[in-house]
Amino acid sequence: MTDSPALVPMDVAGRADRVRASAADAGCDALVITNLVNVRYLTGFTGSAGLAWLGTDELVLITDRRYAEQAEFEAGQAGVDARIEITNDAPKEMLAAAGAGVDRIGLEAASVSWADQRKYAEWFNSELVPTAGAVEQCRQIKDDGEIDRMAKAAAIADAALDEVRPMLVGGPTEQEVALALDTAFRRRGAEKSAFTTIVAAGPNAALPHIRPTDRPIGPGELVILDMGAVVDGYRSDMTRTVAVGDPDPEAQKVFETVREAQQLGVEQVAAGAPISDVDKACRERIDADGWADAFVHGTGHGVGLDIHEQPWVRATATELLEVGQVITVEPGVYLPGFCGARVEDTVVVTADGPRRLTHSPKTLAVS
Ligand code: ZN
Ligand code: ZN
Repeated sequence: MTDSPALVPMDVAGRADRVRASAADAGCDALVITNLVNVRYLTGFTGSAGLAWLGTDELVLITDRRYAEQAEFEAGQAGVDARIEITNDAPKEMLAAAGAGVDRIGLEAASVSWADQRKYAEWFNSELVPTAGAVEQCRQIKDDGEIDRMAKAAAIADAALDEVRPMLVGGPTEQEVALALDTAFRRRGAEKSAFTTIVAAGPNAALPHIRPTDRPIGPGELVILDMGAVVDGYRSDMTRTVAVGDPDPEAQKVFETVREAQQLGVEQVAAGAPISDVDKACRERIDADGWADAFVHGTGHGVGLDIHEQPWVRATATELLEVGQVITVEPGVYLPGFCGARVEDTVVVTADGPRRLTHSPKTLAVS
């Protein structure tokens, strides 16, 4: 319910037909959508309980009485023609009626529990088909409205980091810096942080996803700051590595290598290019300095309504990049007990090459 007139409109209503086509490719005549992020994608509904039925010619949003008004409002705001059904019981009759005469009904395999699957098997007289990524596949390609939200989220993170960076000089704890970033996001209009903000210094920076601790940040330590904001459900993702004072020369070299690798990776982002080329460019640069084994994660991921979504940017990816995908490029090197560095941008694939949404400077020194 945060849609503001300043945001570029999204084509939410057009999504149902694209997901229908995707479901048909998976051999389904209808889909039961239980992943709440996917429910939101199709209907605009942001409540914490509900599901959607996507039939050949109808979209039904089923939720409970707490959300009756919100469901109508949000679907209306999104311009979606969905029938809203309210129940405080299991939606057995509604789903059984919708599914009558439908041959093959797709379930989202990754979000249906074993218990729910057994219920659906009782409720429907149809063949139930496990599907994977029928909606997520469609979510990969963002429209201008979605990209506008992610750009605004990225701009908030850029401004927040700019505001908070000077505080590092005073030797704060990791937690204090993370809190300052989270607060700056909110003050600047973000709904929330896109994930638990990472601030990791010195030896902690060698742990790629450590949570901020109460350890004070020491002089010369590399500090990894990984952050994102949320605007109208859409997320940004950015990592910078900084140091207060002169780092150890080896740590400085780690940072320079990672920064160069990241730049080389972003340069591979082009419509029609293999996704694996982005990973390869980063990995080859890091390998050239002998740190291949210290780059312990994939190069990036899609971003959108989820912080991590398709496509996955890794060596084994077989897909080609497409216009409208939004991915991160985030190589890192982690030397246990010593230091770590990661640099990450959120990048849109456009017909003219990569468009970065995250713009914070990549300079190491904070003074
Ligand atoms: Zn990140
Ligand atoms: Zn990321």
